[in-house]
Order: sequence, then structure tokens, then C-alpha cells
Amino acid sequence: MWDFETDPEYQKVLDWADEFVRDEIEPLDLAFPHQQFMPLEGKRREVIDPLKQEVRRRGLWATHLGAELGGQGYGQLKLALLNEILGRSQWAPIIFGCQAPDTGNAEIIAHYGTAEQKQRYLEPLLNGELFSCYSMTEPHAGADPTMFTTSAVRDGDDWVINGWKFFSSNAATSSFLIVMVVTNPNVSAYQGMSMFLVPTDTPGVKIERNIGLYGEQAGQGSHALIHYDNVRVPGEALLGGEGQAFVIAQTRLGGGRIHHAMRTIGLSRKALDMMCERALSRQTQGSRLSDKQFVQGYIADSYAQLVQFRLMVLYTAWEIDKYNDYKKVRKDIAAVKVVMPTVLHDIAWRAMQVHGALGVTNEVPFLGMVTGAAVMGLADGPTEVHKATVAKQVLRDYTPADGTWPSEWIPAKREAAHAKFADYLEHEVGNL
Ligand SMILES: Cc1cc2nc3c(=O)[nH]c(=O)nc-3n(C[C@H](O)[C@H](O)[C@H](O)COP(=O)(O)OP(=O)(O)OC[C@H]3O[C@@H](n4cnc5c(N)ncnc54)[C@H](O)[C@@H]3O)c2cc1C
Repeated sequence: MWDFETDPEYQKVLDWADEFVRDEIEPLDLAFPHQQFMPLEGKRREVIDPLKQEVRRRGLWATHLGAELGGQGYGQLKLALLNEILGRSQWAPIIFGCQAPDTGNAEIIAHYGTAEQKQRYLEPLLNGELFSCYSMTEPHAGADPTMFTTSAVRDGDDWVINGWKFFSSNAATSSFLIVMVVTNPNVSAYQGMSMFLVPTDTPGVKIERNIGLYGEQAGQGSHALIHYDNVRVPGEALLGGEGQAFVIAQTRLGGGRIHHAMRTIGLSRKALDMMCERALSRQTQGSRLSDKQFVQGYIADSYAQLVQFRLMVLYTAWEIDKYNDYKKVRKDIAAVKVVMPTVLHDIAWRAMQVHGALGVTNEVPFLGMVTGAAVMGLADGPTEVHKATVAKQVLRDYTPADGTWPSEWIPAKREAAHAKFADYLEHEVGNL
């Protein structure tokens, strides 16, 4: 069966979510900007908790994890359809309990955590009562994790962590950090690195500064430079087995990347919606912008890019559900990651241009989207690295040609075709 329709029951759910996000959640982005990852206190809790409660009541809370991992078991395809709605708003993923980086962090604890770790970290994380941080990148190395030097050394039953981590998002408001460190420098990095669950208030965890993205006020950034200075954790803090960090990271990042892509569909669609409305609303030189061929080109290109990207994301989500193994879907997750920044950038940029001067102001969201596109080209690994992954995976299905000429070389194929149809060709020629 091959079908592009959403089942009517789930479509009703999506319709509700769409209205709920537009009416109840998008206003939070303006009333409480950049506060999604701050602990809920006072008045904010009074506003936020009932919204989360409504999402729970409708069975849409934390739909990113399968039933076997303690989630709702919606699967990635249904999550994609929901996430593309949530992607319109900064607050929406929080209200639905499926925000990055907590989704990916929850996923690896669900997969690799002990019963005690799940009780201590996963349950409150899934309940939306605390935030988490994934602390992997180092100041001198990001795209190549084999260069990481932060280490953990055994001391009796404990481990002692030393080193520096960079761009650990939300560390300042997190309750715990998942840290990737070298535990055995004598073997390859793929066998010698491990992950630890470290409560953020452990002595020796020193947030040196919080780096902001362009446009954010100094001091308001949420990406931490952390000095792990003799951080002592018990043996039970190890996540998964010793030396398993790379395997765990692939689980962590596979889910994280596709979820970003799902939300990016929503954000790109918001830019396209705004572009179309503006094109229909604005007059210049005797006609509407929507009558100008340049602008029609912007709209057509944006629509086509968005539809292609969306189908790619939905197909990849379907594959994840089918195989239940990120490794089998690695090529397509990487391809989605490669395409994502360009789609968001191009559509947001055109929408910005169509809005004229207003487009570059802080009264419309376009420059934030363009920055967001740049972030998507780096966070969870740079585009170049993912392109290399796609190419390597694609090349696996090919072999070199025999001899000098390509296997599709026409002279050889023609000769073979003539040989195949020799009787017929001789007859035809004889009748000429
Ligand atoms: C908003 C944001 C949030 C983030 N959150 C987190 C987080 O929570 N936790 C965390 O651990 N990290 C986080 N990161 C860090 C992110 O994972 C890294 O920035 C990324 O892996 C790239 O590492 P780098 O910045 O050190 O760049 P580098 O590794 O120095 O690479 C720089 C550039 O070199 C080029 N390049 C690198 N490798 C190759 C290659 N193999 N082939 C060709 N060109 C190459 C690319 O152009 C790349 O952009 C975040 C980053 C951003 C922007």
C-alpha cells in the first residue's frame, strides 16, 4: 500500500494541536521570550502548567519515545506530523514535552540507563520537571569527537572527570549533564570513550561563561563553556558500558537530528505563509507583489523546496519506525540534516526580501530564522561531515567499472544490443 493521507482520527488531533499552538502557545513566545528552559516559578508556572495539563489530557505529552521506552508509542512518523506544527513556536515543544536537547537525552537514558538512573533522571525529565544538558563538544574540537581530551580516571569506586566542554546548551538551567569523556586513552577513541550522568551541582562543575548567539544580549546566552575540575562521580554514574560513548552518541544524535528537521518544516512553512500574505497585500508599480514574476518565482521555489524537504523528512521518519534502528537509516537522516539549513535559509531569506525594510527588523522573525538556519548547519555536526556520511553510504551500493570504460558506455552497449537482436536486425536490413 502506498498512501500519503493521514488517518482521519489523527488528523483531528493535529487540527486541534494546530489551533492550540497558534492561539495558546505562540503568544508565550512574545510574553515570555527565551524563558523556555528556565525553571518554572511563580506566575509563569501558573500559566504554563495548565497548558501542559491540556496536552497530557489529550495524550500528546512526550510522544517522542516508544511505549517500550516509557513514552506514548506514537512513532516517528506521527511525531513528524505533530512536530511540524510545534516548529512554529519556541515554547510549543516544551508545552508538549518533546524539546531538544531533552528528547535525545531521554532517549539514551531510556535505551542505556539502569533502573536507578531511569528513576532518578528519566522520569522527572519525561515529566517536564527538570532540564538536561548534553556536554560533548570541546573548545578545540567539535566535528571530530576522536580529538576530545576531557577524561575520567578511576579512583577506587569513583571516577574523576577533568577537562573542558564548549557549547553545552542549557547547562546553566539543567539538573544534570551527560558528559562524553575519554576513559581509556590506550585504545581507539571508538572503544575508549564513555558517557557519564553528572548532576550539574556536583562540586567541580564550573560554568565559566554562557555564550549567546548573535543578537542575544551579553550574559543571556545558554551555551556553556564548562570546566570539569576534578569532578568526582560514583561508578553508578556511568551510562551504558565503559567504552560505549560512540554507540550511545549515534542513538542520541540520530533522533535529535530528525526532530530538528521536523520542527524546521513548521518554521519554514511559517516563513512561506508570511511571504504569500505579504505578496498578496502589497502594491507597487501598478500591481500586487504577487503579480511580479520574480516574487512568483520566490513563492514557487519556496513551495517546491518545502514539499521536497517535507516528503524527505516524513519518509525518513517512516523508515525509523520500520527498522527501529538508526544505523539502518543513517544515510537518510544525514541527507535530511544536509538539506535542512538550506531550505530554512532560502525560504526565510526570500520572505524577508518580499517584506522590504520591515523584513530585516525585529518586528518580524526572518533574521532569527536565518540565524536558526546557520545553527542547523552546525548543531549536531556540520553540514560537510553529514555530506561525507551521505556520500560514503551512497557509494556502498556501487562497485568500480570493469576495465577502462564506464558500464554505461554506449559503444559496448550498442554492440551488445545488436548481438541480442541480430536475427531481427539482419531481417530488417535484408528488407530495405
Ligand atoms: C546553537 C548550537 C547549539 C549546540 N549545542 C550543543 C550541545 O548542547 N552540546 C554539544 O556538545 N555541542 C553543541 N553544539 C556544538 C556543535 O555540535 C558543534 O559546533 C559542531 O559539532 C561543530 O564543531 P565545532 O564548532 O568545533 O566546529 P569544527 O569542528 O571546528 O568545524 C568547523 C568547520 O570546519 C568544517 N569541517 C569540519 N569537519 C569537516 C570535515 N570532516 N570535512 C569538511 N569540512 C569540515 C566545517 O565547515 C565546520 O563547520 C552546539 C552548536 C550550536 C551552534
